[in-house]
Amino acid sequence: MFHYQAPNQLLKNKVILVTGAGDGIGKTAAITYAKYGATVILLGRSIKKLEAVYDHIEKQKYPQAAIVPLNLDGAAEHDYIELANTIENEFGHLDGILHNASLLGERTTLASYDPTLFEQVMRVNVTSQLLLNQALLLLMQKAESASIVFTTSGVGRNAKANWGAYAISKFATEAMMQILSSELASQSPTIRANAINPGATRTNMRANAYPEEDPTTLATPDDIMPLYLYLMGKDSLTINGQSLDAQ
Ligand code: NDP
Repeated sequence: MFHYQAPNQLLKNKVILVTGAGDGIGKTAAITYAKYGATVILLGRSIKKLEAVYDHIEKQKYPQAAIVPLNLDGAAEHDYIELANTIENEFGHLDGILHNASLLGERTTLASYDPTLFEQVMRVNVTSQLLLNQALLLLMQKAESASIVFTTSGVGRNAKANWGAYAISKFATEAMMQILSSELASQSPTIRANAINPGATRTNMRANAYPEEDPTTLATPDDIMPLYLYLMGKDSLTINGQSLDAQ
């Protein structure tokens, strides 16, 4: 496991957007960021799930969160611009984005992959990240320093049979992180971009990908939070362009 002990108020006064914040790793990351002092903006497609996370954060007396219902499949440029305007009006700047939401798609061969589903997975897992970054970069430039964290996967580095659009989307995510981090280094050096490979983690997505596996043998989302905290906080200010393993 990546070892890092975050100071209690690591993310005090930080405003951090988490996509797919209603469930799995994104839910735990949002709650963890709030626990360490951040105001989290919870983005997801299921309002009920986001409200449950919001309520949990409120109950714990962490900084009040904000909810942004947005389905990343089908969201258009104007939705992202509206999101940027809302964040600008409410907070004035943005200190971090955790690109976490993803679709698994089908576990099948490329020969039989449904092209419509292929495009959907690419939209949710790749294109939405481009559009979010484009809409939010100006707001991140207004922060003292800002961190963009992508979520990759083992099959985003070594693809395997039957991982289809998902693996391709994660290779694309690695490329997006590499391109963005080198562009930021020369054009906006206060912003850094890196990626996290969570490793096998006990969530619905993992259970869908490996239905025969005993989930109790897997790391929990809480177990992998040290790297999520490290990359969002000031101790990683010099880290840019890296793809790191949470486990
Ligand atoms: P989950 O399926 O548990 O959670 C994914 C989240 O993304 C859910 O909140 C889901 O919303 C949201 N989401 C999916 N589609 C959309 C959409 N169209 N618009 C908005 N939100 C959407 O997955 P994990 O927590 O396991 O995965 C989190 C990240 O970690 C992903 O990027 C995944 O690829 C990566 N990862 C996970 C591993 C694991 O072992 N768990 C291993 C390697 C990488 P909803 O709840 O409404 O479905």
